[in-house]
Amino acid sequence: MHVNVADQPAFGEAIATRLAELAALSDEPGRLTRLYLGPAHRRATDLVAYWMREAGMSVRIDPLASVVGRYEARDGGGKTLLIGSHIDSVRNAGRFDGPLGVVTAIDVVKAAFKSGKRFPFAIEVIAFGDEEGVRFASTLSGSRALAGTFDEKALDELDGNTISRREALTAFGCDPRHVAAEKREPERTIGYVEVHIEQGPVLEQQGLPLGIVTAIDGVTRGIVDVEGIAGHAGTVPMAMRHDALTAAAEMVLAVEQRARAQPNLVATIGKLDVPRSAPNTIPGRVRFTLDIRSPVDAERTQAVEDIKAVIATVARRRGVLQRFTPGHQAPAAFCDERLSAQLAAAAEACGATPKRMPSGAGHDAMAFYKIIPFAMLFVRCRGGISHNPDEFASAADIDLAAHALANFLDRIAA
Ligand SMILES: [Zn+2]
Repeated sequence: MHVNVADQPAFGEAIATRLAELAALSDEPGRLTRLYLGPAHRRATDLVAYWMREAGMSVRIDPLASVVGRYEARDGGGKTLLIGSHIDSVRNAGRFDGPLGVVTAIDVVKAAFKSGKRFPFAIEVIAFGDEEGVRFASTLSGSRALAGTFDEKALDELDGNTISRREALTAFGCDPRHVAAEKREPERTIGYVEVHIEQGPVLEQQGLPLGIVTAIDGVTRGIVDVEGIAGHAGTVPMAMRHDALTAAAEMVLAVEQRARAQPNLVATIGKLDVPRSAPNTIPGRVRFTLDIRSPVDAERTQAVEDIKAVIATVARRRGVLQRFTPGHQAPAAFCDERLSAQLAAAAEACGATPKRMPSGAGHDAMAFYKIIPFAMLFVRCRGGISHNPDEFASAADIDLAAHALANFLDRIAA
C-alpha cells in the first residue's frame, strides 16, 4: 500500500526527544537507574501523566503505581484496548527498554486527539513500573493486577533496605488494598499490545526495522553443583585428579553444543562460582547457573533432559559428583494470532516487512497469557544491545513503529 508521507505526522523525532527527557530522570547521577517506586519513578510517573493529559487522556495512578491514561471511545462505551510497557529500568540502563512502548502509545493517541479522531473502543495507555524486577523478588505486579493474577503475598516482599513493597507503595501515594479492582474483564477488553525494542541482534542482522512476536519464550532455570576433590596444585598428577572446574568447563561447552543444535533454543551459564578457590589448589567445588529458553515448551523440556544427561555423563567420566537443582520455570506465552496478524498487516501497510520471531526476553505482555489476548511489535535496536547505556533505536525505526501502531488502531476500528 502506498503511504503519502506528507499526510503522516512525524512521530520519530518527537518520541526520541521525550525518551531523552525521561532518561534524565534517574536515581543515580551520571547513569540511568529508575527502580520501582523510587524517586526517579515518582518523577517519571508525573511526566508520563502530564504527557497523557496533553494527549487527551484522563489519568490515574493505580494501586500498584501503574500510570493509566484513558482515551474514551467515540460513543463513550465499547470495549477497551490496552497498550503499554514499563518505565522502570535496570541499573545503568538504556533509555529505550520500556519507555519506547509507553511514549509511542501516548504520541499515537495524541495524534488522534489532535485531529479530533475517536475510535469505537476506548484506549488505555499503561506505564507499568515493575517489569525489571530489580527491587523486589517478584515482578510484573502491575500487569498481573490487570490480568487478575497478582499475588497479595508479594506486598510483604522486602527490598535491599528491608522496606516492604506495601510500605513503598504507600509512601508512593498508592493504596495496595484496592489491587483486586484493577482486574480487567476479558469480555470488555480487546487485547493488550506492546511496542518494545528487540533487545537482540536478529532484526539488525536481517536488515529489518520491525518484528512481530510469535511467543515469549518459556524458561527453565536451575543450579548445577559439581563436587570433585580439592588437592595440591603441585603434587597431584594430572591423571589422578577429580577437578570440579575442568569438569564444569566440559559441561558448559556441552550445554552450548546442545543449545546450538536447535533453532530458537538458547541456553546460558551466566554465573559460575568456584568457592574457596586459590591459585595453588585444584578446585574441589563448582556451582553454576543454567538458563534455558525456547518458544516451544516441548523442545525446552527435552533440551533440559538432554542437558541433565550430558552433565551426568561428563561427571561420571571425570569421577566427580553433580547435582541439578531446578529453579524458576515458566511456560511459553503465545501471542494472539488475530491481533498479531493485524499488527503485521499494519506494519506492511507502512512499508515494512516485519519478521515473525520469538522473544527470548520476558515482558509485561506475558502476564496476560490465556487471560487477555496480546501482541507485540519489536523495533530493531543497534547491535542488539540492551540493559546498557549504549542501547539505541533510530528515530526512523521508531517513526515506522508509531505509524504501524496508528494503522493498527484503524484496523481494529474497522
Ligand atoms: Zn523492557
